[in-house]
Amino acid sequence: MNIHEYQAKAILREFGAPVAVGVPVLKAEDALAAAKTLPGPVYVVKAQIHAGGRGKGSFKEAAAGDKGGVRIAKSPEEAELFSRQMLGSTLVTVQTGEAGKQVNRLYIEDGAAIDKEFYLSILIDRATSRISFVVSTEGGMDIEKVAHDTPEKIVTFPVDPATGIMPHHGRHVADALGLKGDLAKQAGDLTEKLFAAFVAKDMELLEINPLIVTKDGKLRCLDAKVSFENNALYRHPDVAELRDLSEEDEKEIEASKYDLAYIALDGTIGCMVNGAGLAMATMDIIKLYGESPANFLDVGGGATKEKVTAAFKIITADPKVKGILVNIFGGIMRCDVIAEGVIAAVKEVGLKVPLVVRLEGTNVDLGKSIVASSGLNVIAADDLDDAAQKIVAAVKK
Ligand code: ADP
Ligand code: MG
Repeated sequence: MNIHEYQAKAILREFGAPVAVGVPVLKAEDALAAAKTLPGPVYVVKAQIHAGGRGKGSFKEAAAGDKGGVRIAKSPEEAELFSRQMLGSTLVTVQTGEAGKQVNRLYIEDGAAIDKEFYLSILIDRATSRISFVVSTEGGMDIEKVAHDTPEKIVTFPVDPATGIMPHHGRHVADALGLKGDLAKQAGDLTEKLFAAFVAKDMELLEINPLIVTKDGKLRCLDAKVSFENNALYRHPDVAELRDLSEEDEKEIEASKYDLAYIALDGTIGCMVNGAGLAMATMDIIKLYGESPANFLDVGGGATKEKVTAAFKIITADPKVKGILVNIFGGIMRCDVIAEGVIAAVKEVGLKVPLVVRLEGTNVDLGKSIVASSGLNVIAADDLDDAAQKIVAAVKK
């Protein structure tokens, strides 16, 4: 789960990390009063969307002005003007895709006098199964370009879970950033605090870009991106409350209500499968035969008819879907339950695209006869290979 920058900064503040004062703003009418609570003389108005690259982004609407999603204002009145321009407008950045994202929240923050911009993130490195730091002197807006062109400027190191965070990790960060004296001490302190926040809140990623040195020699987290491990959210009701549904894919929200493991993708073939491994194999074989999956969907082991119906509806509601492949291996899951769910869903929402159903395993004969006697235009398949070829052929017609 992702959260907004201002929410991430509130968490960092809780753990004692240095962040500027700021006020979240949902309505333009509140912007002036919000800015007036800040020290000034510089106010930064920042669009809050779940995507990076806001500074270099641009708005679709001409009325939003041409200054991007992070704007420096010289007075509370100017901060208010920027707020009016940005709220409700659509911001397009390298991370939002062409459609962009509507800005529904802003963060008005104290402006910093920046001396240097660094990059620092903490993440879980799956290769080593350890929490790792990624640090670079080349912070600011283009870390992907740095990683591509000058990878030697990025320093990475893991934290041994047996020792946890140690003073030498802080020194490593300070060295990597070329910091000495008091700034090195601040870097050590920050390293410990960020790590503590990461572990305590079950984060998956904590990215500070930029981490800055101010003109008066202070480290400060100027941007913050945090994602949390979904499987640990039950331990953090305070974090779960920060979820902003307006930032998420509607189909994924609907799927999460039914406890379906669903991820929207860009292809044309909607997939309904049981078991993550089988779902991956199904996606691979669709690719092999020349099409792409529109989603990953694992209905799980003990899916009910209601769950299957919900899954089917989510798939058919996606305008990108040009064909549907149901691929079920009945173990705990029974083929007749799947068949009934699919038929019920088709009767409810209709079927405008070709549907291939491949059933195997428990109660397969009953499942097949339910499909066959339904009177619906379903293409039956006997194995995975056959099923993939049939749906790809049907979509290409
Ligand atoms: P994004 O990464 O989405 O572009 P950032 O929060 O990193 O958004 O802001 C982009 C740039 O704007 C930063 O690299 C920094 O130069 C500037 N900036 C952001 N916040 C402030 C601030 N509070 N004071 C001064 N400059 C800021
Ligand atoms: Mg940034």
